[in-house]
Amino acid sequence: MYKELNLIRRCGICLDRTGQVNCFCNGCWKALHYKALETGFFSMNYNRSVSRLYTWESPSDNYLKKIVYQLKYGHSEEVYINFASWLLFKAKDYKPLCKDTVFLSAPGKKYKANHAQLLALALAKQTGLPAYNLLIDKTPSNQKRLNKRERMKKVFSCERADVLKNKKIIFVDDVITTGSTSEAVYRALNQPKHFRSWVILEVTAKSRNEKLNSLNS
Ligand SMILES: [Zn+2]
Repeated sequence: MYKELNLIRRCGICLDRTGQVNCFCNGCWKALHYKALETGFFSMNYNRSVSRLYTWESPSDNYLKKIVYQLKYGHSEEVYINFASWLLFKAKDYKPLCKDTVFLSAPGKKYKANHAQLLALALAKQTGLPAYNLLIDKTPSNQKRLNKRERMKKVFSCERADVLKNKKIIFVDDVITTGSTSEAVYRALNQPKHFRSWVILEVTAKSRNEKLNSLNS
């Protein structure tokens, strides 16, 4: 058989052949859009302001499981363009963005596409506001061997922090779990007055304790 046959794209959720570059079929995109709109914008689970498109509360939630998979392993920029426009749509009902707002993406992992940066760039493109990728992960790599509680202490540094001076910072990441990343970024920026986080998916403690451990390690 020809190798090309394996490259026919299938929808990441229902496995239908989409025949598109997009990773989900139209029907599944519609369902995801609806789910994003019915989830409230703000999460109450964190110390600081966190807004998200989805909350993954039940590990058996198939849609969100597939989203997690796409976020972790997918390569389609299309996904981030849609997610960015839905975040902006939901944000409209609350405080509008102003000319001092900037998007700051979470640092990427080595050898992996920086999904947070793709999301920040999509947000910047749709708003005309700047997106910055200035954060460097300085967390010692031997932390991976520590247990969950010990691993909480993440360390970031920020290059050219001057461009963020007096700006209203929206920290952008794909997934939030404990909130330790956004806390560490907030500290790295010397606790700015205006600091919010926007993410695609919030994973609550309940589902975190179950299936996600393996995905997140
Ligand atoms: Zn589908």
